[in-house]
Order: sequence, then C-alpha cells, then structure tokens
Amino acid sequence: MAMQDDGQVIGVIGAGQMGAGIAQVSAAAGYRVLLGDVDQARAEAGKAGIAKRLARAVDKGQIDTAARDATLARIEPIAGAAAMAPCDLVIEAATEREDIKRRIFADVGAVLRDDAILASNTSSIPITRLAQAAPDAARFIGVHFFNPVPVMGLIEVIRGLATADTTVAAIELYAERLGKAVVRANDAPGFIVNRVLMPMLNEACFALGEGVATIRDIDLACELGLNHPMGPLTLADFIGLDTCLDITRVLFEGTGDPKFRPAPLLVKYVEAGWYGRKTGRGFYDYSGAEPVPTR
Ligand code: NAD
Repeated sequence: MAMQDDGQVIGVIGAGQMGAGIAQVSAAAGYRVLLGDVDQARAEAGKAGIAKRLARAVDKGQIDTAARDATLARIEPIAGAAAMAPCDLVIEAATEREDIKRRIFADVGAVLRDDAILASNTSSIPITRLAQAAPDAARFIGVHFFNPVPVMGLIEVIRGLATADTTVAAIELYAERLGKAVVRANDAPGFIVNRVLMPMLNEACFALGEGVATIRDIDLACELGLNHPMGPLTLADFIGLDTCLDITRVLFEGTGDPKFRPAPLLVKYVEAGWYGRKTGRGFYDYSGAEPVPTR
C-alpha cells in the first residue's frame, strides 16, 4: 500500500473523542475519510463535532474557510462494516473493550482488500493478541494517537509479533503526511508514553495518600522543580482517574511487577466516582471558576 498517493481512503471506526480527531487530521492532510460508529447518527454526530472545531479554528484565524470546507468535504459518515470496503487503511478507535474491537476487526477485515492495513488506536490492549481477530496479522498494527489529536504531534507505532516491515513503513508514510512524529515501540504494556507517565502519576497518588505533601505542593513541585507544564495530580484529573487506574492495572497485570501496583488513594477516588474534570471532582473541585484542591 503506497499511503502517499492521492486517492487513498482512510477508514476510521469510532467517531468519539479520538476517532473524530483522527478523521479530522487525515482529511486535513488530503485523504478521503470514511467515518463509522455504531450507527449512522453517531457517525454524523462525530462529523458535526469536527465541523464545530474547524469553525473555531477559522474564528481564531488558524485556517481559512476554503481549508475548512475542503476538510469537511473529504469526511463521509457511514454505517456498517461493508462500507469500509474501499479503504486502504482502517484505524479502529472504538471503545476500549477487547470484545468490541475483535468484532470490528472480524467484520471489517472480511470486506477489506487483501493489501489493506488494519490498525488499532488502543491504549492498552496487546496488539499481538488483537491481531488474532484480523484476517492477516502481518497487516495489523498499533497506531496510538494522543489527545487532542489535532494538537498533539506524536504517534506511537506499535508492531505486533507478526507485523510486517511493509506495514510499519506504510504507517510511517501516513504519519509523515499528517505532520506527526513517529516513535516505534514493541508490543509491551503501556508502550512508551504510558509506561513512563503512569508510574509518575501513580507515585504522586502514593505521596498524597502517605501525607508527604498537599495536592498544591505536589503539583507545584513538579511544575517548577521539573519544568512540567502541569503537575501530576492536575494531569491525572485531566486524563480521568478511571483511565489512569485502568492503564496502571494493565501495567501491573501485564508485567506482574509490583512496582506498578495502583496507589490505594487512586483506587479509592475511582470507587467514589471522583474521576477528575469529567465528573466535576477529582483531586481538584471543578465546580467554581477555578479548580480548588480538595486536600
Ligand atoms: P470515546 O468514548 O470518546 O469514543 C468511542 C466511540 O466508539 C464512541 O463514539 C462509541 O459509540 C464508538 N463505538 C463503540 N462501539 C463501537 C462499534 N462496535 N463500532 C463502531 N464504533 C463503536 O473514546 P475515545 O477516548 O475516543 O477512545 C477510543 C479509543 O482510543 C480507545 O481504544 C482508547 O483507549 C484510545 N485512546 C484514547 C485516548 C484518550 O486520551 N481519550 C488516547 C489514546 C488512545
């Protein structure tokens, strides 16, 4: 598959936060994009969200109306696996559940040409295992984007045990056309970014739980002492404490290494439903104009 040629078609399955972003940047780079979700209405809603974001970008003077219109015109919301048949590359960005993803790979894999590539944007499910649900593990790969996709400049490319060199090369061309940097990772829990990040966030939770310092001081220490743009507890609230716990558990269970065990305080917060920004409370309370530390 020569991903640089014009006329390439990218399929994106899952029109949520990540899938809509992947569709947007692919269309902006000139690809025709088929965007699917559980039904036509959700796929249309995904495109409507992209239209809103592009309108904001026009208001801010980041793009002109011609670029907005051209990007939107390349995105076609679709329903059903069969509609993905013309795709050269299909990126699955559906809900992080293995049964859902396996079903998608079986259904879409059955209609794709035998030179097309299937990719998953999973954050935590092993690529080698997911590849078993696809028609050809050599043409299956992990393509891990970061949130928000139009802003973040990185893609982690994860090769499963059977992923072919030609598949990796095709994805690198695609990433280049999107203007994203690529890092290559082998198929190990957390890949690179989450493997390094989550233990730090988890350790901040341990430190808070053990009374080492307050929320404010842990965050300020990392901002000013490490030159991080935001502290670990602010970042954990932003990502979602439930997501942080899920990924930490993947690291813990996937490696069997006790150094990855989840901090009891993180578990407690998730059990309390305090997931961070999305629920209005995590380590900070988001009900007012400014976030307020809760401890
Ligand atoms: P989301 O909940 O915003 O979107 C998931 C979408 O998948 C929803 O629109 C849902 O309707 C759709 N979906 C569910 N079942 C489907 C099916 N059978 N067929 C088609 N669509 C289906 O979730 P998200 O945050 O966009 O995450 C999607 C994937 O991206 C997950 O695998 C997640 O681990 C991964 N990821 C997320 C982030 C992040 O920061 N949110 C970062 C990197 C990777």
